[in-house]
Formats: sequence, structure tokens, C-alpha cells
Amino acid sequence: MSNLFHLKLKIMQVAENLKKVLDTIPDHVKLVAVSKTKSPEVIMQAYNTGHKIFGENKVQELVSKYESMPKDIEWHMIGHLQRNKVKYIVPFVYLIHGVDSFRLLVEINKQAKKINRTLNCLLQFHIAEEDTKFGFDMMEAKEMLQSEEYKSLDSVEISGVMGMATFTDDMNQVRKEFRQLKIYFEELKSNFFQNSETFREISMGMSSDYKIAIEEGSTMVRIGSDIFGARNTD
Ligand SMILES: *Cc1c(COP(=O)(O)O)cnc(C)c1O
Repeated sequence: MSNLFHLKLKIMQVAENLKKVLDTIPDHVKLVAVSKTKSPEVIMQAYNTGHKIFGENKVQELVSKYESMPKDIEWHMIGHLQRNKVKYIVPFVYLIHGVDSFRLLVEINKQAKKINRTLNCLLQFHIAEEDTKFGFDMMEAKEMLQSEEYKSLDSVEISGVMGMATFTDDMNQVRKEFRQLKIYFEELKSNFFQNSETFREISMGMSSDYKIAIEEGSTMVRIGSDIFGARNTD
């Protein structure tokens, strides 16, 4: 069979996979289609079905896709973000999921202020057992939110929380961690964001665990391989 045939098959699959995934997600949950490592041509197959929300985890790749692709795409930065790279994405990014330190938030505020933008961010919480995953714990988050320096930031808006569960087959463990993130969300909401309409997102759930995440209160799922197939590199 020719390469062209394989390419066409793959393209049809992306649209079909996306439709299947969307069919399993309730209306109040937003789907971020995670397009990392995928080419603009492949991503366009999802875009052409009408889907406009995509997530990337590397700054350089995100910038290059932003530049070459339609401007009505809502780009989400879902990966670990280094402070020295914040300035490259601030002009166009819609939401930064992985804010995992006060210093990072301060830098986002600084860069956003320079161009008169207010940027929406999620606080990433460490909910997994692995200590390789980034994120706040509750005490750090509260300390930050209580500080005068935080209160002086006027170019960022915290719109919720984000977390990644442990990489495990034990779905009870995964469920427990998502449940914890939801508890963190409620606690922050009642302590710091009671009157905020913006603070409403719980970004949790990937291909392997998004159904559980939705059951546990996710408002935003980040799904890659179920839509685009396995990644070659990561
Ligand atoms: C890659 C990635 C995802 C999507 O993972 P899949 O298993 O391919 O669905 C979600 N969130 C983050 C932060 C990622 O880096």
C-alpha cells in the first residue's frame, strides 16, 4: 500500500477519533486536544472538524504552530514552563495550565503587563505519588495567595487548578488523587475566590484517565493520544 494511502487513513482517523472522544464528554467539560509532537497538517484535520482548542507542552513548538496556523485557535500551554521563556507565549496564549511557583506567576504578570494583557493561569498542584511531577502543595499555595506581593499582581488572573495523577494502572489511586484536587479547588474557592467568576476550572484527565476525572469534577480534560494516536517522541 502506498504512503499516500496511509496518510489519508491517518487523517480520517483523527477526525473520527476526535468525534468519538467528544461524544464521551459532557457539555460543561472543555476538551483541550493535546497536539504536541504532531504536525500542523495533522492538527488541521482536527481543526477542520470545527475544534479550535489545542494544547502544547513546549514553548518553541507552541510558538511555531501559533505562527503557521489559523489565528482563531485557542492555544493552551499545558507543560512545565520556564521563566525565561514566558515572554514568547504571553502575546497569544489563551491559558497557562502549569503555574507551579510564585516566581513563575510573577514573571507571567510582568510580561503580560508589558503588553497590556491580563493572562489566565491555573495553579498546578502536586497530587501524584511520584515526586517528579511539578506543582504546589496546599500550604505553599495559601501562603502565596495571602501575600501582599500576590495581591499586587494585576495582569494575571487565577482561573482554577490543574493536576496530573500518578502514572499507574490502579484506578482507585488515580480517582483518589483527582478527588483531592477537587477538594483543593473548593478550599481555595471558599478562602480566596469566593466572589470570582473566573475561578472555576479544574483541569484534570488525560487519555487514560479522563473519564474518572470527569466523574470527580473535571471541567477541562487534556487529551492527546486518544485523538492523534501514539506519539513518536515525547
Ligand atoms: C501529553 C500531555 C497530556 C495528554 O496525554 P495523553 O495521554 O496523550 O492524552 C495531558 N496533559 C499534559 C500535561 C501532557 O503533557
